[in-house]
Amino acid sequence: MLESMLKEIDPIVSDVLSQSLDSKNISTKQAVELFDTKGTEMIMTAMVADLLRRRSVGDKVTYVINRNINFTNVCIKRCGFCAYSRDFRNEESYFLPISEVVRRSKEAWQLGATEICIQAGLPPRMDGFLYVDICKAIKKELPNIHIHAFSPEEILYGSCRSGLSVREYLSMLKESGLGSLPGTAAEILDQDLRDLISPGRISVADWINVITSAHKLKIPTTSTIMYGHIETSENKAKHLESIRSIQKQTNGFTEFVPLSFVHKEAPMYHNNLVKGISPGPTGHEVIKMHAISRIMLNNFINNIQVSWVKEGAKMSQILLEAGVNDFGGTLINESISTSAGSGFGQIMKPKEIRSIIASAGRVPAQRNSVYGIIKVFDGKDNEDESLLDTAETSQFGSYHELIKLDKFRYNHTK
Ligand code: SF4
Repeated sequence: MLESMLKEIDPIVSDVLSQSLDSKNISTKQAVELFDTKGTEMIMTAMVADLLRRRSVGDKVTYVINRNINFTNVCIKRCGFCAYSRDFRNEESYFLPISEVVRRSKEAWQLGATEICIQAGLPPRMDGFLYVDICKAIKKELPNIHIHAFSPEEILYGSCRSGLSVREYLSMLKESGLGSLPGTAAEILDQDLRDLISPGRISVADWINVITSAHKLKIPTTSTIMYGHIETSENKAKHLESIRSIQKQTNGFTEFVPLSFVHKEAPMYHNNLVKGISPGPTGHEVIKMHAISRIMLNNFINNIQVSWVKEGAKMSQILLEAGVNDFGGTLINESISTSAGSGFGQIMKPKEIRSIIASAGRVPAQRNSVYGIIKVFDGKDNEDESLLDTAETSQFGSYHELIKLDKFRYNHTK
């Protein structure tokens, strides 16, 4: 049916989609054609992505029970899209001691979380071994929890502060219990564009070096793109090509996650710092980003994740028909998108995730951090609640409460 429908649309787009259906890799130029589609051609792109997803990974939609711990918002950098970071003297600056990071981890584990996701700002004069100490302290109390932590930007900072090479630093973190790295800080892997939206940010070359070094040490990572600001279709296509090319060499990516730019509180939008900047992607751009990610990466990366924090429950459900097979995590304490003005909450409980997936006609499945299935919810007498479902959300505290608490105020005199 899909093949006969392809005969009705623009022949160039039709050729690209037919090639994808034949499991052939499409070029960046062909991906640009898809990014530029509208109307029926755009819908057909999503349909092809959906079919490729079904062939590759079937109808399960996975999710992980995890908790985000963003232990400090103090940062020496000034990325134009970041509304989360604060100067070290700012009255909203905070820093969670290791004991509090461990307490939050234990609380999450007791409620069924299998993963702790740790990312934060880069505080000035940070002890270069802080990340190591955090991993060791968590693992001492919770030897079986998976620590998914430290973006390439943080790894580079830790390596600089400790005087170790990136490889040595990653090895030490792995020995201390680090399980995987988030492939954030990628934004768009184009140096000229990065120099506009986040001068001073980790360079493209350094991002690739951290990621490939991690893969060589058998530390898996995720991969991401942040789009909907000033990038072109070509930038997005080339970014996907870079991710595909790294995966061909290392096979170390577990997933790819498109992240919409959240504009509301982002300094580069708010203060009009970057000429021609968009207020995030349009609905069609979001659909195309997920669908083309599936089409370009399908032969190399099985898992395309939707970020419910960026897209909300309704759009996330729609994206399940555009190549997506993973719903991300429960997060519990989401701070980064919340501070940028995203209004979709800081936690999504497992029951709600399962309900969204099941009502889309798909099969919810809880997974671990590296896509091992923990439990499939296929409607056969196993629809029990997880402990997190019954927990009071208020017990976790919120980002907006945290930045007001004197108890965790960043002490810049130490
Ligand atoms: S994105 Fe990260 S490195 Fe950039 S300002 Fe925000 S916290 Fe700092």
